[in-house]
Amino acid sequence: MERIESLTPRMQRFVLDGPELAGLVIDEPASSVRLLIPPAVGAALEMPTWTGNQFELSSGDRAPIRTFTPRFLDTDANELTIDVVVHDGGAASDWAAAASVGDEVAVSGPGRGYEIDTDASSYLLAGDETAIPAISQLLEQIPVTTPVQVLIEVVTSDAELDLPSHDRAEVTWHDNGDDTPGTALVAAVTDLAEMPPAIWVAGEAAAVQKIRKHLFDERGMSRSEATVRGYWKHGRSAT
Ligand SMILES: Cc1cc2nc3c(=O)[nH]c(=O)nc-3n(C[C@H](O)[C@H](O)[C@H](O)COP(=O)(O)OP(=O)(O)OC[C@H]3O[C@@H](n4cnc5c(N)ncnc54)[C@H](O)[C@@H]3O)c2cc1C
Repeated sequence: MERIESLTPRMQRFVLDGPELAGLVIDEPASSVRLLIPPAVGAALEMPTWTGNQFELSSGDRAPIRTFTPRFLDTDANELTIDVVVHDGGAASDWAAAASVGDEVAVSGPGRGYEIDTDASSYLLAGDETAIPAISQLLEQIPVTTPVQVLIEVVTSDAELDLPSHDRAEVTWHDNGDDTPGTALVAAVTDLAEMPPAIWVAGEAAAVQKIRKHLFDERGMSRSEATVRGYWKHGRSAT
């Protein structure tokens, strides 16, 4: 790891580097990479073995592997940037809060991204803090003439950060406070008077399931118009 930057008190940016990144190709926004982190804060990275149904450490524990958005990939410098939300109690979050320059992680991927509909007359991008890196990439690639409504749920207002500028974007931040994750996001989306014809949503699984139902069952949208992704599950580790 080459650089670490605190974007907000809840978002740590990591610039990973190394010749191993050569050959990584990311050609769609909102794609993903898998990050293997050390088994404990301060421990050395341990490469796991595939047992046939999980990646396992020598201790017999499941290897800590988590999914993140490859925010920037610099193929000349072999640098990959990821932005990690720091929250209460999670292997990746604990790692992000304590990591130092020079620490090692391993990366695999990429996973499927999102194909922007450049013909769409307007867009809705909605998500929680984990979706900010993907939403930022989408804002960078949606045509500058396309109106984009951006709804983002944050736990507190100090998690708000500068998004890439887009001439036609209207961004609103929704503080969720201590409510069940996704409460503010679900309300923000379902309250919209009109739904744009192209929609991308990501965040807590139960919350985005409510949004999915709303879009498909109540607003009658088709699967091709709305992409809705669960990025994490409240109360459940991603392992
Ligand atoms: C395609 C994709 C792209 C993603 N991109 C990003 C990204 O760019 N940046 C990013 O930060 N995350 C991203 N995520 C989400 C990230 O993978 C999860 O938040 C992951 O669970 C974090 O791992 P952890 O070890 O910190 O917590 P886990 O061990 O998975 O979970 C431990 C506990 O923490 C809770 N928890 C997990 N995540 C959060 C959270 N964000 N807020 C509050 N509580 C949480 C869980 O419910 C559980 O109770 C992405 C997920 C997917 C599927």
